[in-house]
Amino acid sequence: MKKIFLDKGHGGNDPGAVANGLQEKVLTHKIVEYATDYLAAHYEGFTQRVSREGDQSLTLDQRADMANKWGADVFVSVHINAGKGTGFETYVYNGGVSSQTVALQNVLHGEILAAMRQFGNITDRGKKRANYAVLRETKMPAVLTENLFIDSNDAKYLKNEAFIKAVGEAHARGVAKFLGLPQKAKPQSQQKSTDGKLYRVQVGSFSDRKNAERLAEELKKKGYPTIIV
Ligand SMILES: [Zn+2]
Repeated sequence: MKKIFLDKGHGGNDPGAVANGLQEKVLTHKIVEYATDYLAAHYEGFTQRVSREGDQSLTLDQRADMANKWGADVFVSVHINAGKGTGFETYVYNGGVSSQTVALQNVLHGEILAAMRQFGNITDRGKKRANYAVLRETKMPAVLTENLFIDSNDAKYLKNEAFIKAVGEAHARGVAKFLGLPQKAKPQSQQKSTDGKLYRVQVGSFSDRKNAERLAEELKKKGYPTIIV
């Protein structure tokens, strides 16, 4: 069981960067929520935690401690940039990192940038290194993402819920790829036969098997192939 720790940058009395009617802490919360939803819906073989469920204040050390004490296999800290620039960048610790950390940065950077570019011409600011506390203090592969600038024209993307959702889901896919998580089997209703479309219809679910058998008999009489699962 792999352990995924997702850090929502800022929170509580620290809103992070604020501009254009946007708050960094709100955007990081949304991106991580979209990521956790996507992971839960599409993959198995993992558990996940977030640094804050709601709008709590946390120090940088607390975030790293939570991940370390839990024994996370991967740590991703989500942020929005400020300083009137444009584009997307990712960070790992600048004080010597494992090849695993570099691999995590590569896969996340690629997934997220590709997702962003579905929406427009997003600048790639590159894969960077810095002495950030959450990267320095965490013991597992750790990456920090800076998802566009809140105080520039980038804000038009950050105001688009579909963009925020796509960025969150790209974080999820990157982490899943890095960990090699198996994908959940698709439900039968989504399967297709090789020679065309095949639609399966479920007609009922019962806690009592006799009731299921009664309905199955009725359907068989009417000529429908029937199975009880
Ligand atoms: Zn930040």
